[in-house]
Amino acid sequence: MKDTKALTHRPVPLAIVGGGAAGLFAAAAAASRGLGCLVFERKARIGSKLLMTANGRCNFTKDITPERMLADIGEPVASFVGPAIWACPPAMIAGGFKARGLAIRRMPDGRLFPASGKAADVVHVFGDELRNSSIPLLTNCPVTGIQPVKNGFIVATRNFTVWAKNVLVATGGASFPKTGSVGDGQDFARRMGHRVEPLRAGLTGCETNDRAIRAMAGARFENGAAAALIVDDSEVFRWRGEVEIEQWGVSGAAIYNCTRYAVRNGLRTFDLLIETPEGTWTVRRPVIRPLKEAIVTMGGVSLDEVDPTTMESRLVPGLYFAGEVLDVDGPTGGYNLTIAFATANLAVRSCKT
Ligand SMILES: Cc1cc2nc3c(=O)[nH]c(=O)nc-3n(C[C@H](O)[C@H](O)[C@H](O)COP(=O)(O)OP(=O)(O)OC[C@H]3O[C@@H](n4cnc5c(N)ncnc54)[C@H](O)[C@@H]3O)c2cc1C
Repeated sequence: MKDTKALTHRPVPLAIVGGGAAGLFAAAAAASRGLGCLVFERKARIGSKLLMTANGRCNFTKDITPERMLADIGEPVASFVGPAIWACPPAMIAGGFKARGLAIRRMPDGRLFPASGKAADVVHVFGDELRNSSIPLLTNCPVTGIQPVKNGFIVATRNFTVWAKNVLVATGGASFPKTGSVGDGQDFARRMGHRVEPLRAGLTGCETNDRAIRAMAGARFENGAAAALIVDDSEVFRWRGEVEIEQWGVSGAAIYNCTRYAVRNGLRTFDLLIETPEGTWTVRRPVIRPLKEAIVTMGGVSLDEVDPTTMESRLVPGLYFAGEVLDVDGPTGGYNLTIAFATANLAVRSCKT
């Protein structure tokens, strides 16, 4: 690694790479633990993806028990994120936001949003927390490399390096790359010897050529359901929720959760049974939309090489991962932000000083 100008002469206890959901929550957790940290963010502002969540409304968690949340997330992700979610359950996440002045709206199914309906309010909570705790935030500052050294890590940017005792990689997945999550963290992990599971679209819509369905473009059914069907039309997965008909096919929470099931379980072909108050349709052999449009990235740093009780690398001591950079994903409905927050919290609680 090129020896550029060093910014620090003593190691920073924790360098957080990524100022998204996981990185910002980690910074807040570090402040409450009294652990010195520094946040690097590739984009000009923090939380670009957070601002997009739930159409700009940010469904930041779901008011359900950890058991129920883990059952909905399903295996193999649930076993890995279990210790993190038990240590930082939805009630604690909601309590943390409330204590920092965020008014919360609860939907009948338990999904929690800022009462204002503005994701920006969630990002402001983090911005305020960083400012109040004097946490240095380097924006427009993509990390270009992380090199383990004798006493910590050298974290490199284009113009300078930082010496850090611990590093948390919270660079996200690879969907909506304009938000800054472009797969850098997976590359850093690979370079440090980690296996990375192939990145693919998790929660996303399905294209169809079925003219009868496309003719309904613009229709939206809040109380719909979708099921994934395999050979002989046997149902392997079902989710109740919104269904939307698009020019190119179908979207909405019920569809997204079926595509997540299909991708995670390696279904090469499947059909979608769509139920709405206005009728039932079967979409034959739908095509899953691309990763760049997915709500969550499936794949990422292999879970076998990360300790689920600490989020520390099993290969490189002092290296931690949180959020979508890992091979973790959940259904729609506040699960993915909960995973990002809870894994970040566990990583910070586990850092040795
Ligand atoms: C359209 C949409 C709607 C969604 N709605 C919801 C919802 O309502 N509820 C929910 O629970 N989940 C939702 N999600 C999913 C959720 O937003 C993600 O799971 C979550 O943001 C992941 O957090 P993260 O911190 O791992 O990654 P991100 O939030 O993507 O943050 C990663 C950060 O790292 C930065 N970064 C990347 N590389 C570098 C580098 N080299 N150096 C420095 N910084 C770097 C990026 O710029 C980015 O800011 C939605 C996602 C999308 C796309």
